[in-house]
Parts: sequence; C-alpha cells; structure tokens
Amino acid sequence: MAKTLIGAKPNAAHQALVELEGMGRLHCIVTQNIDGLHQQAGSSRVFEIHGEHRHLHCLQCGDLLPLSPELQQAGDVPRCKHCGFPLKPNVVLFGESVRDLEAIHALIADCDLLLVIGSSAQVYPAAALPAIVRRNGGRIVECNREPVLSCAGYGETSRSDILFLQGDVVQTLPLLVRACREA
Ligand SMILES: [Zn+2]
Repeated sequence: MAKTLIGAKPNAAHQALVELEGMGRLHCIVTQNIDGLHQQAGSSRVFEIHGEHRHLHCLQCGDLLPLSPELQQAGDVPRCKHCGFPLKPNVVLFGESVRDLEAIHALIADCDLLLVIGSSAQVYPAAALPAIVRRNGGRIVECNREPVLSCAGYGETSRSDILFLQGDVVQTLPLLVRACREA
C-alpha cells in the first residue's frame, strides 16, 4: 500500500478545504484516509482516525519512525531501533481502535455544520457522527456522487433537509468555496 500512496498529490477538493479553513469556515477535518494529503495541502487540524502511512510504529515502546524509501525497499520486517520489536505501519488495522475518538466527540458536540465529503458514511464510528451533529441541532451538507445520507432509508439521519451537493468533490468543493466567498 505504501508504494501506491507515494507520489499522490492533493487535489482541488483538498485545496478547497484549506481555503475554507483560511476563511475561518472550517474548524477541523476527520478523515478515514491514511494518505496525509490534507496536511500536504495545508490543512492544519486533521484527525486521521485510521492512522497514517508516513511512519512505522513500535507497539512495544511506542516509537514512531519515518517511513523512508530504504525501509520500503527492505525485504525483511523493520525493527525498532530502541527495543528491537518488529515495527508495523502506523495505520489502524482490523481489530484495533480508531484514533482520537474522544477529542472528536468533544469537538462534534459544538459542530453547527458537518460536511460529509466523498464518504459512504457506512464505516463506524465515523458513520455515527452525522447523527450526533443532527441530535445537537447542527446542519449537514453531503458532498457525494450519489446520495447516501440524504436518500431515504438511512435511519435517523435520513431527512430531506440534509443539503445534497451532487457530483465529484473535485468540482463541487471549489464551487462551495466560491459560494462562501460571495456570501
Ligand atoms: Zn520499540
């Protein structure tokens, strides 16, 4: 996986979120992506709940080691330089807990508008966030190719008042930024 992620570049959707943050319209990003592209684009507050691919992690002593090209080429499992324990990618694997959930829940309590972007909104616990925002009286804007939250049959978050911005987020998010500028 690491090899395919290297060389990926932020796109217009990542850039749009940086601009929203710069305008004071975006407080933080919660992402299931592990590609680090939000930070690369310039977003400053990003929760990577599934971890990231830029480091290796020692489960024994907690050390983080930057993932270098040499380490990727190495044939055998890299080991921690402090304790010798085998290192694993700093991503959340099946069976492990997602990251930063407490901090995210604290933030989401004050969320007045949640953008759901390019997500199937079906992987928990991130999928639970729209319902929490709604319960607290916040609004939801869904940016997807096909409606997921806004379509009928999505349980408690399924409401016609969820604003649905249909299309490729590379196109729709820059439009959203422009609309915010002109507002
Ligand atoms: Zn270690």
